[in-house]
Amino acid sequence: MLNKGQIPLQEPIVSIGLVLPEDQQKSLTIQSSDSKKKKHILIQNGLLLIDSKPSPRIHLTQPTSDSFFTLYPVRAGRGFHWEKQITIQVLGEIEISILNGYLFVVNKIPLEQYLMCVATSEMSGECPSALLESQTIAARSWLLAADEQKHANLGIDACNDDCCQRYQGIGNLTDTAIKSSLATRGQVIIHQNAICDTRYSKSCGGVSENNDFVWKEKPKPYLRAILDSSEIEIPNLQSNEGFRNWIEQDSSCYCSPNTIPENELYRYLGHVDKSGSYFRWSVSYNQSELLKLINQKTKSSFDFIKSISPLKRGLSGRIIKIQIVGNIKGDEFKITLDSEYEIRRVLHPNFMFSSAFYIEESINTNSNINTITFHGAGWGHGVGLCQIGALGMALNDYTSTQILKHYFKSTELKRIYD
Ligand SMILES: [Zn+2]
Ligand SMILES: [Zn+2]
Repeated sequence: MLNKGQIPLQEPIVSIGLVLPEDQQKSLTIQSSDSKKKKHILIQNGLLLIDSKPSPRIHLTQPTSDSFFTLYPVRAGRGFHWEKQITIQVLGEIEISILNGYLFVVNKIPLEQYLMCVATSEMSGECPSALLESQTIAARSWLLAADEQKHANLGIDACNDDCCQRYQGIGNLTDTAIKSSLATRGQVIIHQNAICDTRYSKSCGGVSENNDFVWKEKPKPYLRAILDSSEIEIPNLQSNEGFRNWIEQDSSCYCSPNTIPENELYRYLGHVDKSGSYFRWSVSYNQSELLKLINQKTKSSFDFIKSISPLKRGLSGRIIKIQIVGNIKGDEFKITLDSEYEIRRVLHPNFMFSSAFYIEESINTNSNINTITFHGAGWGHGVGLCQIGALGMALNDYTSTQILKHYFKSTELKRIYD
């Protein structure tokens, strides 16, 4: 595993989880590009079997560096609204073991080969090279900073999914993607001699967010809210009224449809989330839908929901604390959701696109909500680089250095290995 705070002097081999014990998967098919024969991996009576033969641990290697493995099924979008099972093709080695009774599949791969695939899994290989370069440098820095290490207990550097970085193998690689990755080999974003923990999300919605408002962690000087345009000053979005006025105005920021029309956006985005509006969206429920959703997600037993009110917003207008008021057996009852993640988890059957929204409610004669609409901005947590905004900048001829300096203030680029 990579060590937090340590700058590698040569290209490391990284460990990426493809199938995690939490997926509760007990079978997998795997095929090498050098063999027509498929291998069937199965857990039966607590034993790991490969083509029906027991094996405590399976380690598969390739005869050449451009041979690859095809694996099916692999989960993509774990727990999000776009979750599905996919087939992936990966370079490097594969290790398979049993953990907590389920399959645990790890891909050991040189960092640069992994990054090439991340760039075209996160965005499409059709993207301009400045965007793919920015995406690759951000993905490299995030992994090498090793600040989050969300799966340290499993001994891996990252999983294959949006929870860490989307990695769907070599299936979407293009010549531009390969060239962009080679052009940035070994380059990372540095702040005060340390590799930056460069977060990114799909669309900031116009303004990015301070990291410490979205996660309970220390403020990072290069993960501050910025206006996603050539202008500097962020309007006041921390009041409900200020946020609503701003979201309803026409916008010319880098991630808005005025820079890239949404019907053109689809060709630049990855293969998993082709539906939905990224910059502005709305979600509506009637009382019974809302009631069912909130009771299910918060394990409550409300009879009615009376109101939902934002209590605190970040600089981008993202709500970080919200209050839900309702009735339980005739008595008023309140709950508070106090993180961006929890708000998005509870207020959507899968996951709300972002927590930057204002609420429009119609109230019935019993003072309960009749219908509720969330009018929102952006897609994702909104901290760090805005992928659609970076695409907008790249299409307007900004270089990857200019793009990265726009999103990560007071940083510099450095090549740490050849
Ligand atoms: Zn992960
Ligand atoms: Zn943006």
